[in-house]
Amino acid sequence: MVLGELSGSISRALQKMNNETVIDEKALNDCLNEITRALLKADVHFDLVKNLKINIKKIVNLDDLAAGHNKRRIIQQAIFNELCKMLDTGKPSFMPKKGKTSVIMFVGLQGSGKTTSCTKYAHYHQKKGFKPALVFADTFRAGAFDYYMESDPVKIAIEGVERFNKENCDLIIIDTSGRHQQEASLFEEMRQLAESTKPDLVIFVMDSSIGQAAFSQAQAFNRSVSVGAVTVTKTEGAAKGGGALSAVAATKSPVIFLGTGEHMYEFEVFDIKPFVSRLLG
Ligand code: GDP
Repeated sequence: MVLGELSGSISRALQKMNNETVIDEKALNDCLNEITRALLKADVHFDLVKNLKINIKKIVNLDDLAAGHNKRRIIQQAIFNELCKMLDTGKPSFMPKKGKTSVIMFVGLQGSGKTTSCTKYAHYHQKKGFKPALVFADTFRAGAFDYYMESDPVKIAIEGVERFNKENCDLIIIDTSGRHQQEASLFEEMRQLAESTKPDLVIFVMDSSIGQAAFSQAQAFNRSVSVGAVTVTKTEGAAKGGGALSAVAATKSPVIFLGTGEHMYEFEVFDIKPFVSRLLG
């Protein structure tokens, strides 16, 4: 289900409730059931949806609402707040500072948009006055070593970080491999890379169209390296919204950027409220 359709379903559910003359337990349940269905179809992890429903029911106690209060608005607000809370980890991610060297490592499956996001991230910071450098430690990518014979990603990363440190780059971005013959080898490689380069921040890159797989994928990366932030790619057009919520829950890290296209400048700073507003239509 695309984000647009999700918005449609949720706003339809709320609209339906708006049309009810009496907002009682049944109307609330019907509405929550529809919203639940919409979120599940949008690949939001089952447990998250279940919790959202429980929380809304706790917050919205119809009997307690004083007569005359706008109950529909209260319910809408509660849904909005709960979705925001699901995306708000309460701790901001590491922010690189100009003039002080930061090492940022990007992880994610092949095709997730990792390399694209690395360059967008570099470009974004360059515009802000940083001096970024990109270390390409993806030795699995075909043709990556036509001109450079080193094939040990850990060595490449260590050398790259050292070299760019000497060159006074204040933002050293490490692009990593997204596949391996064996899945376990990929995660072991990520662990070794993080151990040897000691990144200030590991950013997990997730393709917004991976659906229910978002939770386990994010969790798997987070188990081998400590993920500190999430970037969700391909969010323009037919992108699903649910995965972002799952990645946040699995890594307990905030989404910081959205990829909104293939071009360098199609990169947005993530902002919870507009994202949730868009989700709710
Ligand atoms: P990697 O294997 O994870 O490094 O992925 P790449 O960066 O090579 O990207 C895989 C494909 O996704 C490429 O065709 C990119 O142009 C495309 N891509 C990456 N980010 C976005 C995005 O935000 N929107 C769209 N539409 N395409 C993207």
